[in-house]
Amino acid sequence: MKDLPEIGCSNTPVLKQRGQREVFCGLTGIIWLHRKMQDAFFLVVGSRTCAHLLQSAAGVMIFAQPRFGTAILEEKDLAGLADSQTEIDREVARLLARRPDIKQLFLVGSCPSEVIKLDLAKAAQRLSAQFAPHVRVLNYSGSGIETTFTQGEDGCLAAMVPVLPATQDAGLVLVGALPDVVEDQALALLADMGIENVTCLPARRAGEMPAVGPNTCFALVQPFLGDTLDALQKRGARHIPAPFPFGAEGTTLWLRAVADVYGVSDEVFARVTAAPRARAEKAIAAATETLGGKSVFFFPDSQLEIPLARFLTRECGMTAIEVGTPYLHRDLMASELALLAQGPVISEGQDVDLQLDRARAARADLTVCGLGLANPLEAEGLATKWAIELVFTPVHFYEQAGDLAGLFARPLRRRALLAPLAPVVEAAE
Ligand code: SF4
Repeated sequence: MKDLPEIGCSNTPVLKQRGQREVFCGLTGIIWLHRKMQDAFFLVVGSRTCAHLLQSAAGVMIFAQPRFGTAILEEKDLAGLADSQTEIDREVARLLARRPDIKQLFLVGSCPSEVIKLDLAKAAQRLSAQFAPHVRVLNYSGSGIETTFTQGEDGCLAAMVPVLPATQDAGLVLVGALPDVVEDQALALLADMGIENVTCLPARRAGEMPAVGPNTCFALVQPFLGDTLDALQKRGARHIPAPFPFGAEGTTLWLRAVADVYGVSDEVFARVTAAPRARAEKAIAAATETLGGKSVFFFPDSQLEIPLARFLTRECGMTAIEVGTPYLHRDLMASELALLAQGPVISEGQDVDLQLDRARAARADLTVCGLGLANPLEAEGLATKWAIELVFTPVHFYEQAGDLAGLFARPLRRRALLAPLAPVVEAAE
């Protein structure tokens, strides 16, 4: 591992921008959350636009029973001519009668439900009382009015924290939705170090949700969980600050931070991590042949930008030109910013036209951005990576470190392969 720079970008002035933004809304989180929580249902209270977003992004489940849906607000609801609370009660009763497998129901707010100030917290409370103990009903907002898409997961997990069971027992909670296979790898590493009583939020089933209390420690695996962090701290749990487990270095530092809290010796730590870490480094090295010496420009989108810039610059030999993030959570990003070498512009928020001007002027070898910007930028000759892929693909911890680097290397390889064809294509035209 390289020596840690003293302050890196910790004191770098942040370019704050407030203008038009190009991001998905928090409903997007349902796509990975419904796969993770196998007895949960996400009922979006929204418009036809919300329904279309979910159906086109998550696909229609033909063989399985769907675990998300949209209660569509019609014009009479939006005009205040119908009692939306009564309609929600009716829809929920109908859904739960048809689907006894549902143990957790999330009422998910949207732009339209927020604009008409539909009180989903009140609805969730009322319905929870009605359907307890079989079903717990919670609510959170997935609206895109002032949020970015990963905040949907934060809202969902933060909504669950107040109803987690209380405990005085010592335990560790991993916080953030990981694909099951990745979660199993993390749990196996911690078990091999002798760390016991480890649970996950969210759990795969309602009955397996972690208990929390003053003797609970928790470590975040995703950098966009600021509200969940606050909610857990309010329950008395203790946060273990660490860089995020992206790449060989990030994973090692994350595990080390957890291991230190549990008094794991250097010897045990080295024994458990040496082999997977070596595999990760080897896999990253393969992608680094493509990434080394290249520049990268991040538009703000997933809130993973700062940890990923740290990974790409420290482990893959890239140079960051701008690292944009929708929100900069200083506490959560402290160790990441300290590791990120000085040089890039750190920007928070977005004024998309101004940022496009900067991206065009920089002409980075790779631009990481949302779907809406990627195609126009590709047409202008810039290689792009869709930020949303970074949350749909398993990228955490050692065994996925090579895949993470590969995600960034692929657009560069594709461009290199297509480059010799360009004059031929032009001549044909
Ligand atoms: S929540 Fe808002 S941004 Fe998201 S799909 Fe619905 S209307 Fe569009």
